[in-house]
Amino acid sequence: MIPGLEPVALKDLLALGQPKVWEVNGNHDELASLTPIRGRVCAEHRGNILEVEGSLQTIICLRCDRCLGHFNQQLTVDNSELIWLGSDPSEETFGNGIFDAEAPEGLMECLDPRGSFEPERWVFEQLSLQMSVVNRCGDHCPGPPVQTSAAAAPTTPTALKDPRWQALRDLQASMEPSPDQRHD
Ligand SMILES: [Zn+2]
Repeated sequence: MIPGLEPVALKDLLALGQPKVWEVNGNHDELASLTPIRGRVCAEHRGNILEVEGSLQTIICLRCDRCLGHFNQQLTVDNSELIWLGSDPSEETFGNGIFDAEAPEGLMECLDPRGSFEPERWVFEQLSLQMSVVNRCGDHCPGPPVQTSAAAAPTTPTALKDPRWQALRDLQASMEPSPDQRHD
């Protein structure tokens, strides 16, 4: 739990009559970050929409899908979002053109006006959206760890062809019980 980011009732935000600002500095339980999540979130109740904006930063440790090495990635959020307050955004509301101008991507989410806004959840969702589906450590990625797995294998084709091991292989062969040849 990030300190101070408790859910707030939407009616309280409405009664506030001005934007509410949260200073963010802490770790989220579901997001293992190397550094605390820092930044701020601001929410303003504007009748039938809630305008939320926030800027956040943290650093997470990821595992490269290609070389399997760990690397750090900075997540940066600088976003604003309009959340519809109601269960059924009607065409009438969208049709008046007000929201379209302010939110080109449209209203993504809606909240029950009798419910509450959860700033911590908003922070988590925004940071999660920054994470890529495929993790790559960067241009310097050494690629799949082929060398490592080959060296770890006890007997590789290269080792068998090495003439220096021939004497050992002969010795091994002579010690192996082979009934067909050793009973003369
Ligand atoms: Zn890599």
